[in-house]
Amino acid sequence: MILILRPNTDHASDEFGLLIRYLESLNGIDTKIHEVEGAGQRLTEVYLIGDTARLSRDFMSSLPCVKRAVRVQESYRFLGRHGQDDLPHHFKYNGVTFGQDTFNVFAGLCAVDTREHVQQMMEALKAHGQTCTRMGAYKPRTSPYSFQGHGKDCLPYVFELAGTFGIRIIAMEVTHEGHIDEIAEALERTGQPTGVMLQIGTRNTQNFELLKAAGRQQTHPVLIKRGFGITLNESLNAAEYLASEGNRNVIFALRGMKTNLGDPHRNLVDFAHVPVVRRLTRMPVCIDPSHSVGSRESSPDGILDVMHATAQGVIAGANMVLVDFHPAPAKALVDGPQALRLSELGLFLDDVRIAREAYLKRLDAMLAHQKTPHSRS
Ligand code: PEP
Ligand code: MN
Repeated sequence: MILILRPNTDHASDEFGLLIRYLESLNGIDTKIHEVEGAGQRLTEVYLIGDTARLSRDFMSSLPCVKRAVRVQESYRFLGRHGQDDLPHHFKYNGVTFGQDTFNVFAGLCAVDTREHVQQMMEALKAHGQTCTRMGAYKPRTSPYSFQGHGKDCLPYVFELAGTFGIRIIAMEVTHEGHIDEIAEALERTGQPTGVMLQIGTRNTQNFELLKAAGRQQTHPVLIKRGFGITLNESLNAAEYLASEGNRNVIFALRGMKTNLGDPHRNLVDFAHVPVVRRLTRMPVCIDPSHSVGSRESSPDGILDVMHATAQGVIAGANMVLVDFHPAPAKALVDGPQALRLSELGLFLDDVRIAREAYLKRLDAMLAHQKTPHSRS
């Protein structure tokens, strides 16, 4: 059960103290308090965990400070939407806000290879007014003989360059708990010039110990990719691991499913699930068109499949795009064939803007329709 408190409830007030003391007196029920930043107000949610079936919703709704009590679906207790629950969940990290109504592009290198390429990528991003990027230092590869990423050795120059070019957040995959510490140490040593969003890759979606480690820390938000061979429900439960350990700043990424039925794309593009994830959970939804499509093929209209897939996700309401670019795709050590060129960054961003505007127009049309008297008949 979640108790949603009245907006801006003062945690120092007598009423709040009374509520908490009562909740603590309930046998077999643990209490977890979570603050949510709403638009212009602070919301507090109190999670009751344990044998809550015996609690009456009406009675719990009548307790001091409580606006509403909601019975939660067991599976996505922290990240899910529950019944009438239309509460927003936003979080801000290093000056960038994320929610189901925000939109951010993370264009960058699949893998850091050379310092020059990192610099060229970041220069191009700055020239286009971008403040977020992706940079892989730890690469999970199919073959043990493939380039595994430069690991912690590249972090100092990646972070310093990010600071130089005004990059606020780098999405960076971690494949081991130790990588989180290495990132924190490198950020500390370089004077925190940027922020890092930890990425859990599709191969690690159900690496529960890694999820718990990324969930225990609350410094970095986490981008979790949908597992490529498991159900959506299983992947959403994986995201819930992060939140259950304390980190609710979680973004869920669709990146295509592994099946030959998606051929000739690398994975079966699953962006029709953007609205589904937004309906089931409060997580902002990211799409990764690069790992979904996996090539630079284009259709007869000349538009790259990667850009078509991006537009499909964005027009369906995606909140974030993670996309591979490279200054010299032929020289990339990982995923060169799917990388867009720096000369295409402006075109890509324009295309994304068109799709986002189209989504917002669709939303306006829907809202106008709902206001008409006969919209339900
Ligand atoms: C990546 O984004 O670099 C990556 C490896 O993606 P995925 O986990 O979706 O394969
Ligand atoms: Mn890749």
